[in-house]
Amino acid sequence: YMTEPLSELVQGFSTLQQGLGAVKRIHGVEELAIETDVDDTVEPVGGTAPGIAVHSVRFQYAGRSAALDGVSFEAPAGGRTAIVGPSGAGKTTLFALLQRFYEPESGLITVDGTDIAKMPRAEVRRRIGYVEQDAPALSGTLESNLRYAAPDATDDDLTEVLQATRLMDLVERLPDGLNTMVGTRGVALSGGERQRLAIARALLRRPQVLLMDEATSQLDARNEVALREAVDQAAERCTVLLIAHRLSTVVSADQIVVLERGRVVATGTHDQLLEASPLYRELAASQLLVPEAVEQ
Ligand code: ADP
Ligand code: MG
Repeated sequence: YMTEPLSELVQGFSTLQQGLGAVKRIHGVEELAIETDVDDTVEPVGGTAPGIAVHSVRFQYAGRSAALDGVSFEAPAGGRTAIVGPSGAGKTTLFALLQRFYEPESGLITVDGTDIAKMPRAEVRRRIGYVEQDAPALSGTLESNLRYAAPDATDDDLTEVLQATRLMDLVERLPDGLNTMVGTRGVALSGGERQRLAIARALLRRPQVLLMDEATSQLDARNEVALREAVDQAAERCTVLLIAHRLSTVVSADQIVVLERGRVVATGTHDQLLEASPLYRELAASQLLVPEAVEQ
């Protein structure tokens, strides 16, 4: 199926992120080694949240019509920009380009005014954190799940991101707190908890930009609120771009970009778009839950 190569690539990248143990078992070790070298020369990121800008980006998969065509928008520094659109609109492709899994055919993407095509990939992925849609909890303790991507994080850093992502309640509820085994061989976490864990893990690396593919799974009201608060907290630390599937998320976004068949058809706040965009009205009426799973 045509979407397979992309999901494999994205999957491959999450595998790469799953710690050095896993890296040894997959190919691409050489590239990782090079990227690790580059990482050492890159000044630490975090602190300032830069804006991200997409300028007239066009991209097509081989033999297909354009998946993105003339896409332009700016995600202001330290804000929450929600991307919405029907299945096949190009949301996932846009995120793949933002992480440089693919290069635009024309146009460019800048972070803090710098063309990401001119940055080492390792730097791009250090500046731009990614939270996947159905973030799996790994095996091991809660703490090791948080720390593997940020081994230098202090206990204070850990506490801070746990608070920001509303995971302190969970920690207090677990029998051994942070040392509790979670995932396949331990305490099962809910979808909402897993996604907040993924956000915490991403924040611990202090990205300047956080890309998030919001989970489509049903959440109870409490988890829904906690997730929205986690996103709000993330936006205080970095610029957040999220593929949104929940009306509650887009309502509180600073800006919404509506994609349809590879083009930006409208941008604005929830209220503005309800006025101006028939497609947005339609999406909002259906609660935005575009069934991504159907694509795979
Ligand atoms: P969305 O995430 O908004 O549902 P996608 O970015 O997945 O949209 O897809 C945009 C378009 O690109 C669709 O027409 C889709 O069929 C096509 N597409 C996505 N991934 C691939 C791929 N790996 N190879 C070929 N075509 C693809
Ligand atoms: Mg998608």
